[in-house]
Amino acid sequence: MSSNANSAAGGLTAVFARLIAATGPISIAHYMAESNARYYAARDPLGAAGDFVTAPEISQMFGELIGLWLADIWRRAGSPERPCYVELGPGRGTLARDALRAAKRGGLVPDVHFVETSPALISLQRTAHPSATWHHDLSSLPTDQPLLIVANEFLDALPVRQLVRAASGWRERMVGLDANGAFVPVVGTRPMDAAVPALFADAGEGAILEASPAAAAVVQDVAARIAVQGGAALFIDYGFVQPQLGSTLQAVRAHRKVDPFVEPGKADLTAHVDFASLAAIAEAAGARWLGTSEQGGWLAALGIGARAGALARAAPEAAEAIEAAALRLTAPAEMGTLFKVMGLAEPGWPDGAGFARVNAEGRA
Ligand code: SAH
Repeated sequence: MSSNANSAAGGLTAVFARLIAATGPISIAHYMAESNARYYAARDPLGAAGDFVTAPEISQMFGELIGLWLADIWRRAGSPERPCYVELGPGRGTLARDALRAAKRGGLVPDVHFVETSPALISLQRTAHPSATWHHDLSSLPTDQPLLIVANEFLDALPVRQLVRAASGWRERMVGLDANGAFVPVVGTRPMDAAVPALFADAGEGAILEASPAAAAVVQDVAARIAVQGGAALFIDYGFVQPQLGSTLQAVRAHRKVDPFVEPGKADLTAHVDFASLAAIAEAAGARWLGTSEQGGWLAALGIGARAGALARAAPEAAEAIEAAALRLTAPAEMGTLFKVMGLAEPGWPDGAGFARVNAEGRA
């Protein structure tokens, strides 16, 4: 291993190593939460010079179609007064810029609220959106206005807990230190069988069951708020729509996958989003589940083809780049099927554009 407790004088590696040496292994969730807090606090990770590229940074079309979706459902809900645009983890503020510009053309000019913890990204967002209001978590969002909530690649950054099937039963998967001082996944000691759904109780030895209590808490809070205040929400992320086993924890640095247990805080740690569980949580909290669609099909239904054509006609020299961006967002081999869009709304609100096909197929 290239990194161990002795190779970094300070930083999170040393903090974790001391903690584990003194008190024993820490949970994967603890490791991931602290790593990402450290990772995001200090940098802008987005773009070619950073670690990864997100959909809004690929093309303005992504944010524009989201803005049009919001304006459309808000208008069909009767244009309730004083709407708020709320974005969770807005990155550079690019999606908000494109979405708000398009929403305005659709007659929607909302107050703007951002939920963000990274000082580095808040400062970029402030430049792009000087009149927005910032929040460290959802608890301080307005309670008396309809909320139009957007989160792109936000839930995947929230910590996951992992359970592993050991010979003697289910245990929490933890992070410990090996003989060389490197971080390694280890099996915890406490029985966790009671936390495993019946579907997976008899999985074979070595099976891993992942869940994100933090993502569940965010979706529950969003759903409960829109049920009471009115509104709608879009969660866009890579993830799955059927319950599944296996670790999806990954680390990305400079556009490459790296070992998540090396140099915590230096790479972006993510896990795939369990959309089936989140839809059920949203419904239990009182919201209406509008559907969960693949990103490619959803953008196509919203007219990304026509939008790409219009942009290309307006700037023929950029036509090829526009076409390439549309493909990157929608093609199955790119972001089109791995990424999903989940829509929620207040139960009295109408259907959301782009989800019709999913609804026709019914719930998984
Ligand atoms: N939505 C943007 C950025 C995605 S990166 C885009 O699509 O380009 C993840 C974003 O979530 C960053 O803005 C990061 O700072 C923020 N974030 C990560 N964990 C967070 C947390 N626990 N609370 C609030 N924001 C968080």
